[in-house]
Amino acid sequence: MNESQKVSFTTQNKLIIFGLVLSTFVIMAIAVFATVNIQRNLNESYQNFGQVISKVLAIESVEITKGTSGDVTRKILKSHSDSILKSHNDIVFIEFRDNNGGLIYKTLNKNRDKSTIPSISVSSPMTDISSGANIGSVTVGLSGAVTGKISSTTRASILFVFIIVWLVFAFVILINTYLITRELRILRDGVKKISSGAFGYKIVGKDVSEEVQELFNAFNDMSLRLSLYDEKNIEELTLERNKLEAVLMSIANGVVVCDENDKVVLLNNHAKELLELDGDQLLNTDIHNYVDTQGDYCFSDKIDEYKKLSLEEKSSKPVEFNISTDGRILKSIISPMFSRNKDYVGYIIVLIDVTRETEMDNMKSQFISNVSHELRTPVTVLRSYIDTLYNYGNDFDIETQKEFIGTLNTEIVRLNQMVNDILDFSRLDSNAKIEKSETDISQLVDACVSQVQVLLKEHNLKIELEKDDNIPLLMINYDAISRALINYLSNAIKYAPQDSVITVKLFKEPEKNLVTITVHDDGIGIAPEFHKKVFERFYRIENDTHTVKGTGLGLHLVKTTIEKHHYGNVFVKSQLNKGSTFGFSLPIDISEFEGENKDLV
Ligand code: ADP
Repeated sequence: MNESQKVSFTTQNKLIIFGLVLSTFVIMAIAVFATVNIQRNLNESYQNFGQVISKVLAIESVEITKGTSGDVTRKILKSHSDSILKSHNDIVFIEFRDNNGGLIYKTLNKNRDKSTIPSISVSSPMTDISSGANIGSVTVGLSGAVTGKISSTTRASILFVFIIVWLVFAFVILINTYLITRELRILRDGVKKISSGAFGYKIVGKDVSEEVQELFNAFNDMSLRLSLYDEKNIEELTLERNKLEAVLMSIANGVVVCDENDKVVLLNNHAKELLELDGDQLLNTDIHNYVDTQGDYCFSDKIDEYKKLSLEEKSSKPVEFNISTDGRILKSIISPMFSRNKDYVGYIIVLIDVTRETEMDNMKSQFISNVSHELRTPVTVLRSYIDTLYNYGNDFDIETQKEFIGTLNTEIVRLNQMVNDILDFSRLDSNAKIEKSETDISQLVDACVSQVQVLLKEHNLKIELEKDDNIPLLMINYDAISRALINYLSNAIKYAPQDSVITVKLFKEPEKNLVTITVHDDGIGIAPEFHKKVFERFYRIENDTHTVKGTGLGLHLVKTTIEKHHYGNVFVKSQLNKGSTFGFSLPIDISEFEGENKDLV
């Protein structure tokens, strides 16, 4: 038996039972009172009936026995009594006595019920009316069977009526109770539906009272309002959620939201991209199980570490660590998530792609080490050469001294070049505009070529110059473009094989409205994957073939000069071990670009 089936006596049930018991007592009391009353009246009437019979008998007996005596009198009384007894079964006996109390005659009713004892006996005197003399008495014994029958019939009828009334009463109470509880049940079912979230549920009651109908109407009205409120709320919540999702999706960093059981409940597209996921692969799974393309569990240990922290520690200092997935370095920050009631509901992992920053950091430290090395070498050479010349200069002939001074000069030129590069880098990388003037680019190319003559001689190299005629004047910064070209030239000289020829071309691309300069060498060349990278800040190819030291700034400065400050573009065509062609193009008319300042990475 479950809870709802248990018989429980509510106050209402108790009241109904009390009402039934009370009404039973009241009806019983009324029935007993009525029976007793009827019985009393019946007994009185019966007594009167006996009185009447005995009186009539007394009068008749005196009349019919007048002038007789002895056996004759007894005979007359016998026949008269018998005739009366025959017609009245209720009379048990008739007894005649003389005025001395002596028995004259007594007769018993043969039809009487032998078991009945006369319940009433009534006597009347026999008086001779003419003389007024008392000649005896007549006693009539009555069985009381009729009154007994009447009272038992009355009792039975009252009991019957009582039972019927009680049953009807109980039935009415039960029906009434059922009807009331039926309405309550309908109401209870409705309330249950509402509490389970079925807003808008309607209750219908057939043949219910007006008050109950009003109650039902009020309930339905409330239900409708709740459903409207709910719909509005859902709309607002959906809108809020959509907004939040839109914000989450548009965040540039990856965001992974986990519940307190480490189940991934939300992640934005960027996170999917960074973690190399297809679709909703990670959704609804344990974040511990995430493995990168190499099959490593990236988050598992850190999540466990984070979960060991107290809530205060979690909130005050988010856990930060780096993971590497498929060549990318992702900075991951785990911070706790709280509900409005400040309950802990899970955590958020923010993923930031720091591959570039990490590379940049590495490149910067590489740059610093390169610069220090590059500075130390010429400074050491300078110191030792100057020291030798200062202390032992007189011991050397003039030719040797000249050679010493030549080496000093070369080192100073290198030093100067490097310092200029570093200074140019900070100047050109800033957004400050550089001055431009109309320049004959052909003359600029000639000047640059003659500047590197010393270096060419050192490496036994030659330059072949191919220039278009009538190249228009260009609006450029003479020094910046010269340095860019010298960078290309000195790189070509660095990497070109001894005794080879470096080709420099200057030509106009009429259909594109550009003037282009290229520098070609037959040197070690560059593998295709480095073509873009060689123009990045501090980037240097450092492997077995590229052993020449440098700062990694030269080509970045060319790119900045050409693209950011002169609205042109740089390019490289190169094949490993087959040589390289570095070049840049400058727009003939820069007026359409002036005003905007391109930002380069
Ligand atoms: P650095 O000043 O250190 O030489 P650059 O920016 O000028 O730096 O060059 C970047 C990288 O490009 C260098 O590491 C070098 O290996 C490569 N490079 C530049 N020019 C050439 C070339 N003509 N042939 C082969 N490699 C080159």
